[in-house]
Amino acid sequence: MRAALATVDLDAIRSNLARVRALAPVSRVLAVVKADAYGHGLERVARALSAADGFGVASLDDAERLRAAGIRQRIVLLAGFDDPRDLPLLRALDLDTVLHAPEQLRMLELDAGRPLRVWPKLDTGMHRLGFSWTEARALALRLSELPMVATDPVWMTHFASADQPGAALTAEQLSRFAVATRGLAGQRSLANSAATLLLPGSRADWVRPGGLLYGLSTIAGRTGADLGLKPAMRVTSRIIAVKTVAAGAGIGYASSYVAPTAKRIGIVAFGYGDGYPRHASNRAEVALLGRRAAVLGRVSMDLLCIDLDHVPEAAVGTEVELWGPALPVEVLADAADTIGYELTCGITRRVRFETLGVEGASTPCRAAVAAG
Ligand SMILES: *Cc1c(COP(=O)(O)O)cnc(C)c1O
Repeated sequence: MRAALATVDLDAIRSNLARVRALAPVSRVLAVVKADAYGHGLERVARALSAADGFGVASLDDAERLRAAGIRQRIVLLAGFDDPRDLPLLRALDLDTVLHAPEQLRMLELDAGRPLRVWPKLDTGMHRLGFSWTEARALALRLSELPMVATDPVWMTHFASADQPGAALTAEQLSRFAVATRGLAGQRSLANSAATLLLPGSRADWVRPGGLLYGLSTIAGRTGADLGLKPAMRVTSRIIAVKTVAAGAGIGYASSYVAPTAKRIGIVAFGYGDGYPRHASNRAEVALLGRRAAVLGRVSMDLLCIDLDHVPEAAVGTEVELWGPALPVEVLADAADTIGYELTCGITRRVRFETLGVEGASTPCRAAVAAG
């Protein structure tokens, strides 16, 4: 069996949820589990987060998987629907939907059936999805006239720069949203992970953390642990060959690393085919036996090579951590010019998964209230 392994710590995920509750004690928590729960595994994460008030997903398929797994909380389709034929399924699965574009309103006008719970989304400055914040009042009126829309919407917006403390755009987005929704019936939801952490005034009725739950940092230069979070994914493999190369030997494809002196190297069974960033070639480190070792040469599909000069006791079979508690994913992400989110999402199907902690262990559940 290949040694490439991702271990998902469900207790860490639960503890991160408790951290969110402590930060936003009067808000409901929509746990964002899109992209297979940021690569951690949709069903196992959702079951571990049984104390969340709802789940946010990007696709109808994910919503179906959650209902099939027995998840009863509210599920919000974060980009809504894009085909009227999906509406019966939204009802059958009892989903909430984001509304962000006029085309969706036109589809609802032609629709029949039980009214849908909606999360109208306002664009307050990110310029991605959403109706212009200046149209909020007209939109509220239109929604109130649509029989297919349930009363009591959740007005939402999304921040572009909440991860940069003090960003002027964030203050502008907050005040635009407040002006746009003043006096409108319904609840409010603004905060992603970064805003949940840094912007108390944005927490409102529902926070929508994703990365925070997985112990991922959203703030440049800080690791999840720096923020008091527990990293939930540990990715490991093993050394499958050890050799000593002579001074002047090139290592790997294109000999992009040349050993300056005789050097002991280890070959690790992990590569970009498993989700390791090839861009980290010659730039990253791994952790083993309580130390760090440099990645030498190009990362290839199945293998990468590490410098064992300072880890003499490493041998064939030694476990190597690619990221996890000993080597924060943010440190690898920095070396690869990306963010931890992209790395956890990018773990591929051939990597084996194991879980730590009990899947269904539950803390008191407020979901029944929230599902109302
Ligand atoms: C992905 C997403 C989130 C969660 O973002 P994090 O930075 O992971 O907390 C929240 N809201 C919306 C609309 C999203 O698409």
